Amino acid sequence: MVRVRIAPSPTGIPHIGNTRTALFNYLFAKHNKGKFILRIEDTDRKRIVQGAQEAIVEILDFLGIPPDETYIQSERMDEYKKHAKILLDKKLAYEKEGAVWMKIPENQIFSWTDLVGNKSISFKSQDVEDFVIIKSDGFPTYHLASVVDDHLMNISHIIRGDEWISSTPKHLLLYKSFSWTPPFFAHLPVILGKDKKKLSKRDGAESVLDYGNEGYLRDALLNFMVLLGWNPGGDKEIMSMEEMIRLFELKDIGTVAPIFDLQKLTWMNGEYVRMMDNKKLKASLLEFYSQDKDVTDFLKGDPKTLDLILDLAKTRMKTLKEFKDLVLPKIPELSEEERGIAKTLLKKLLVIKNWNKTTILSAMKEVLAMHKAKGSVLYKIITGFEKGLPLPESLEIAGKEKVIEMLKRLAI
Ligand code: GLU
Repeated sequence: MVRVRIAPSPTGIPHIGNTRTALFNYLFAKHNKGKFILRIEDTDRKRIVQGAQEAIVEILDFLGIPPDETYIQSERMDEYKKHAKILLDKKLAYEKEGAVWMKIPENQIFSWTDLVGNKSISFKSQDVEDFVIIKSDGFPTYHLASVVDDHLMNISHIIRGDEWISSTPKHLLLYKSFSWTPPFFAHLPVILGKDKKKLSKRDGAESVLDYGNEGYLRDALLNFMVLLGWNPGGDKEIMSMEEMIRLFELKDIGTVAPIFDLQKLTWMNGEYVRMMDNKKLKASLLEFYSQDKDVTDFLKGDPKTLDLILDLAKTRMKTLKEFKDLVLPKIPELSEEERGIAKTLLKKLLVIKNWNKTTILSAMKEVLAMHKAKGSVLYKIITGFEKGLPLPESLEIAGKEKVIEMLKRLAI
């Protein structure tokens, strides 16, 4: 039975990298009808950050990848003490300065076949140093606690970031010392920023909750993250959770560090916005803008008009956050010249008999020609922004009466 775990330390809010590891573990578990386990590794007491544990749970919840089982290491102290004693009794560990140390035997090779890239990795024992397993505060180190737990929790595959590769020989020594069979290991190449350096705050070292607050959708974030280091072959990119579960296999994880590309996330989010039906989009917008009465009032307006506007907005918006500026006009500050253009526009629109996007467009063209002006000035007059939804369509939806009334107020 496949049993995998994520083992975050509550020392900070998980960023995209840790969260991708969680997603890969989840998909691997579900693909194999196994279990996905959350283990909070809180034995490094000094580094614990308030709220980090809650954030870990909240992120899994937001993404819809909840654990099947949850454990907290600080509640399992007896196990670690018991197992340290076994090693002391076997003389494989020793006490020094109030701590318990693991002794590295001479002339040994620690090796495993990593399931990422199916490559063999080995370390010579002379390159590994004795390491602490119980600290002087009585708490176990990561090495001891995670090996004991991975064994007792019957973890079959350890899928984690490749920054842990250098810890793996120590873990293999512990397995051997307890006469346990080690699990399989799969070390994921770390995600890099566009500059090929470690992710910085600007390009992805934020949490998925931050991206949610920026108007990115859960499904788009999942889809984007899954492609950071994995792809199912071919050029399939847009995938539902069900498809990801069906297709996910460790052999398709790449050995090259994936690059975090915010533009790609934004593009993908736009694709997801377009795929949503209006009912779902409206619900997402109501939730996203729950604190913004201008937008929620607007969304609760005439449903027929709203449908038309949502159809139009979908063609332009990439994140939920862009919706407000695209759809809710603000009152522009016009120069004398711009006010003149607004007046002409008012005149030309007033005489339109058959109010539709074609007649509106030709009126606009005439106005621009007369004033030798660029299209952006019309955006400014009508929406208060430099750009926005296609104007003729928007004005057709708004209706002649409303548009005329608005222009009258501006042109005076
Ligand atoms: N506690 C480690 C971390 O913070 C777990 C590493 C592992 O998965 O073994 O990521």
